[in-house]
Amino acid sequence: MQNQNDQSRMDRIVSLAKRRGFIFQSSEIYGGLNGFWDYGPLGVALKRNLKDAWWHDMVAGHDELATLTGAPSPYEMTGLDCTIIMHPQVWKCSGHFDLFHDWMIDCRESKRRYRYDHLHGRWAAHRGKKVFVTTDASGDEAAPETVARAQKFFGLRAKQVDEIEWGGGLESLQQAIAAGSATLADTLGPDATAPGSLTAPREFNLMFETRIGALAGDDDDRAFLRPETAQGIFVNFKNVLDTSRVRVPFGIAQVGKSFRNEITPRNFTFRSREFEQMEIEFFCKPADSAAWYRYWRDRRWKWYLDLGLTAGRLQLREHAADELSHYSVGTADIEYAFPFLAAGEFGELEGIAHRGDFDLRSHMEGKLVRKDGELVVETGPDGKPRHKGSGKDLSYFDDITRERFVPHVIEPSAGADRATLAFLCDAYHEDEVPDEDGKPRSRTVLKLHPRLAPIKAAILPLVKKDGMQEVAIDLYRALKPHMACQYDEKGSVGRRYARQDEAGTPWCLTVDGQSLADRTVTLRDRDSLVQQRVAIDEVVDLLRDKLS
Ligand code: ATP
Repeated sequence: MQNQNDQSRMDRIVSLAKRRGFIFQSSEIYGGLNGFWDYGPLGVALKRNLKDAWWHDMVAGHDELATLTGAPSPYEMTGLDCTIIMHPQVWKCSGHFDLFHDWMIDCRESKRRYRYDHLHGRWAAHRGKKVFVTTDASGDEAAPETVARAQKFFGLRAKQVDEIEWGGGLESLQQAIAAGSATLADTLGPDATAPGSLTAPREFNLMFETRIGALAGDDDDRAFLRPETAQGIFVNFKNVLDTSRVRVPFGIAQVGKSFRNEITPRNFTFRSREFEQMEIEFFCKPADSAAWYRYWRDRRWKWYLDLGLTAGRLQLREHAADELSHYSVGTADIEYAFPFLAAGEFGELEGIAHRGDFDLRSHMEGKLVRKDGELVVETGPDGKPRHKGSGKDLSYFDDITRERFVPHVIEPSAGADRATLAFLCDAYHEDEVPDEDGKPRSRTVLKLHPRLAPIKAAILPLVKKDGMQEVAIDLYRALKPHMACQYDEKGSVGRRYARQDEAGTPWCLTVDGQSLADRTVTLRDRDSLVQQRVAIDEVVDLLRDKLS
């Protein structure tokens, strides 16, 4: 069993991603831009297949006449594609303008900036000198990093490291300061040489700002790049209701770019500043919302498993009651054990939240706050709403029951880049296969689900003679209208198999001498390595069947 939580394994995945054209650093020829990533030829196909699978399974292929397993009733699904820049009031009413921030902390010495909640530290003492040593490394790297920093700080040689006395294990700097067990004056910053260089933590809004129009100048022209796609759905709720004859319960889905000016982007594409989300806002009757919440939580969990993520590396984490907003009956995160995390740690792929009527009411009435257990419009010193809502009626009238209500919302919110990364990490395997002479050869293979694989089949003439190429090209042309496939005649067949294994291609079709006599080819399965002979005229139907 390969060690799955291991930075070197992650490094090999990142290196394959670059070498084979899955993911590149953005603007690499200029030194790159931290937190921004480009998808290369194989990566764009992988990510597109993932988004297409989501859209197909959740929206386009949804059977709105059936009651799906676990669903309280049949329901409709529809979609939207909204702009990235929206009216600034959207973000004021949604709460992002006032509340969407992280705490950051600066180092006066190294001039570096950190996310406060990413810093961890522990007390180290040597010959009467004491310091709270911190690091921004995560996972397995954090503890050794503090040892190396303390060694340097106390000016010790490697063999003297055991002389350091440690006051307990690693803890969050934020919690240590809050508990009073450490102070910033005693704290050695992650890149500092002396304690006391970290500034007091400050709030930092994660929304990217921009200006609209050529004469932009004052604060009123400020606009924001959306930090989530969800708000575009809420502000179009009435448009969709009025134009598409949907009835509650129904969902609106959207896939698109979101932007967050993350203080410390890290872990490859996991925390980026520009990324794509796949979000559903599902509108239902308040009385049914708990049942719909459970339905969506289980449905989304199963989606990842059906597409092949290893069950043991996936975790469904229900938030504890004290973590929930008071209007919410539940929130769950679907998390994956990424290899860059320490054993036992998981990173969020998707959150499924019961949001009550918070969002629709905010856009009707204005920004809401909680007061004595109730959601009320927040007011300024003048008694007027702090951020005024649209004033539009976003309630729903059920013409059968003659009831009017503001629907409750269940929100499954997934990240397309994080999911792509999880599928890439999960698919990555190193094993041994026999080469053409039967000797074991190590190979790197991406065991991607065929629906996600960038290339579904490769067509390979065994040699470039005797008419094998012509037969292979005909087969390629027959298959291409139905699925992404590739014709490859370069190099030994073993090398060609290896190239396809690394790209995650599930099937290789090889045209050999026998093909010319009986119009069959060998079909090689990437995972089982089983080779079977199939009739050329049946290949298209056979692979289409396998894919569906
Ligand atoms: P985190 O706690 O990791 O910052 P979050 O709880 O803020 O994530 P949400 O606001 O719930 O994330 O966003 C929904 C989804 O969008 C996440 O589950 C994740 O897949 C994706 N996402 C959020 N922030 C990023 C990011 N900086 N880079 C890539 N994907 C992201």
